[in-house]
Amino acid sequence: MLRTHTCGELNKKDVDKEVVIAGWADSVRPHGKIGFISLRDRYGITQVFVSKDLSDKLPSLHKESVIQIKGVVKARPENLINRDQATGEIEVSAAELNVLSKCAELPMELDGNVQSTEETRLKYRYLDLRRPEMQANMAARHKAVKQIRDYMDAQGFFEIQTPMLTKSTPEGARDYLVPSRIHLGKFYALPQSPQQYKQLLMVAGFDKYFQIAPCFRDEAARANRAPGEFYQLDVEMSFVEQNDILTIIERGMVELVQKVFPDKKISQVPFPRLKYDDVMKKYSSDSPDLRKNKDDPNELAFCWVIDFPLFKRQTREDFFHGAGQEWGPSHHMFTMVKESDIPLLDTNPGKAKSYQHDLVLNGNEVGGGSIRIHDAKIQEKIFELIGFDEHQKKEFAHILEAFSYGVPPHGGIALGIDRMLMVIMGKESLRELIAFPKDKAARDPVMDAPSTVEQKQLDELGIQLKK
Ligand code: ASP
Repeated sequence: MLRTHTCGELNKKDVDKEVVIAGWADSVRPHGKIGFISLRDRYGITQVFVSKDLSDKLPSLHKESVIQIKGVVKARPENLINRDQATGEIEVSAAELNVLSKCAELPMELDGNVQSTEETRLKYRYLDLRRPEMQANMAARHKAVKQIRDYMDAQGFFEIQTPMLTKSTPEGARDYLVPSRIHLGKFYALPQSPQQYKQLLMVAGFDKYFQIAPCFRDEAARANRAPGEFYQLDVEMSFVEQNDILTIIERGMVELVQKVFPDKKISQVPFPRLKYDDVMKKYSSDSPDLRKNKDDPNELAFCWVIDFPLFKRQTREDFFHGAGQEWGPSHHMFTMVKESDIPLLDTNPGKAKSYQHDLVLNGNEVGGGSIRIHDAKIQEKIFELIGFDEHQKKEFAHILEAFSYGVPPHGGIALGIDRMLMVIMGKESLRELIAFPKDKAARDPVMDAPSTVEQKQLDELGIQLKK
């Protein structure tokens, strides 16, 4: 090992130990003939004392260089103890200082005092991520995802991965297409969500499925939506009613907050269940903010919104890609209509209510799902109402065929992981929770993607660009 300890663990108990620590030079402070280095890694910061034997190395030592220190742990004099630091009682007196990798002049400050532009932060994301705040954000994300996995496992769910190279599942956005080389002229689509696969998993008998699933949607950036791609906790269950889904997810949310974000307070448990028509009347929004005190950063006000209309009229601003000009599904085309409203499909489809459920947190929609249609006749009727032509209907023949071989009644939900954590943690942007986010124009500034490709690659794919 290149180190015996991390930069966050040495304390008074370790005094007189010979240690090797390694990390980034957070600061380098020559002091006449001696000097100090604050050495930083993921775990913390340790002060290194540099005696006059080694201090000639300090002037050329750039901040953020990677260095290794061999030395002895010393107690700091009482008046120099730093109570704000876990390692504040000690320092390591360096006997050897090795520069493992020198840092060039930095394109941005990492100390948090200087506000770099968002553009610079994203281009040099690997530097931005070194900042303790971003390290803490990634740690919180890891803990939250692990807690979610543990909870789902304890409830008997299987995590099953579904394909990334697939055919489009219309969820209302445009698809990202991937050209096939082996099948010239044909394209895969990256999934907007694993919707069809998870329903097929129900046909396959996996009655409790979940996945921390990447979803790809080619749509303009919106305030709280990561452009390009994002992660969902995707869930599907068989032999359930809407209440079963809401209950299991609600318990998972409460446990997540208690275990990973203990400072936060959920204002109401069980979460209020509100009807779409009522919230629209009262709040003019289907994502009401029910916080009692909007200045309290620790208040989390969850609620469920149910009894949505099955369809929405298509508008230019809110156009469900894949559906026709008149009606788009309010959620998606696999959502079940309330049984009592089935006759309305023939007479007044705009009035029909569905089994859609949205989870709302502090005024943000953080999840959505539904009880699904498992009757091929109703499914065909919905395809018709949203204006599918014969070709489009054929694209879904596999689902209807699967449903002809014995499909259990089923339903599910998906929660946006990035967005949910952003709201719970009170962050201003989704990007704070994503290691390498796309920018507002859906570009990856680190890799400079999307990019042009070699002519040879296009030739192999049989693709000719228009200009
Ligand atoms: N697939 C849906 C979505 O991504 C969620 C669901 O119906 O389970 O919004």
